[in-house]
Amino acid sequence: MKLIDSFGRQINYLRLSVTDRCNLRCKYCMSADGVAACQHNDILPYESLHLIAETAISMGIEKIRITGGEPLVRNGIVPFLARLSGIEGLRHLALSTNGILLPEMAQDLSLAGVQRLNISMDSLQEEKYRKITRGGELKKVFEGLKAAAKAGFPPPKINVVAMRGFNDDEILDFTEMTKNYGFSVRFIEYMPTLDQANWQKQEISGQEILDLISSKYELEEVEKGPYAGPSRDFRIPGATGSIGIITAVSGHFCATCNRIRITSTGKAKSCLFSNQETDLNPWLQSGDKAGIRQQLEELIEKKPECHALSINGYEHDNFLMSQVGG
Ligand code: SAM
Ligand code: SF4
Repeated sequence: MKLIDSFGRQINYLRLSVTDRCNLRCKYCMSADGVAACQHNDILPYESLHLIAETAISMGIEKIRITGGEPLVRNGIVPFLARLSGIEGLRHLALSTNGILLPEMAQDLSLAGVQRLNISMDSLQEEKYRKITRGGELKKVFEGLKAAAKAGFPPPKINVVAMRGFNDDEILDFTEMTKNYGFSVRFIEYMPTLDQANWQKQEISGQEILDLISSKYELEEVEKGPYAGPSRDFRIPGATGSIGIITAVSGHFCATCNRIRITSTGKAKSCLFSNQETDLNPWLQSGDKAGIRQQLEELIEKKPECHALSINGYEHDNFLMSQVGG
């Protein structure tokens, strides 16, 4: 079965946020004190997350990415993933993490059926990493990368939020990582989700990143696979990994958007930057699979053609990326 929206896009990818808590406090994602404690009663129990996943898969979703917050800080995540990976029809289970807990957990995640990891790392320099994450230790992320390789994962994708004046001087260092170690690095345009004044000053467009890399390396474009994310991917000829550019703000990938999102509190969203969302809680509480299905069908039917955000214009309510899951 195929899920097609009203603009002819096939929706086959669900991003499921399992928590809004995190062991880091990245400056572009969370405030220094993290998330408000009162929200935690609202976080969906695993039974509800499973029910959503099962329903979505029965409708045509083939890939699920587990995200957060930091998914690995939630108690019971490994058995939940093991159950999820057993749902018939799920072809691809991936997880986004900051990598800090991978040294202890990579092996169990692999055994639970997670097939791919994306790891966020915005600097290759210890002090800068500590600063952007408000205290994170870069060493642990590198240990996490090693543990993932030892557990048999394919080289993870490294997500880098590009920020002018912070890590623009490291774009070529990250690019180097794609040459020999098989890592794919994806540069994400910084998105103004918190109430940040003058956010445009930090923005580096995907095109600028591409121009910078192309000034040093010849690049060839890489073809996209069936569950590909929103990046445009390139490769330095002969390199083992690729370079992705995610133009979340300057746009251009809405036409091929294949995803829906579920927040950690049970809101379904058809577009990261749309204010339109459906609260699934009334149907989750009664275990009403048909009701959830109907809500998701209606959401996909109304999925907007494109988001209204651009570097020159900004139209959406602020939201916590840690709750929506990126
Ligand atoms: N904790 C995990 C991690 O950091 O990968 C998963 C959740 S995190 C919210 C998912 C992705 O969203 C990360 O790659 C993160 O860098 C990205 N992200 C968060 N806030 C962002 C922002 N304001 N602009 C661009 N990307 C952002
Ligand atoms: Fe945590 Fe990921 Fe947000 Fe950083 S980006 S604060 S690691 S949820």
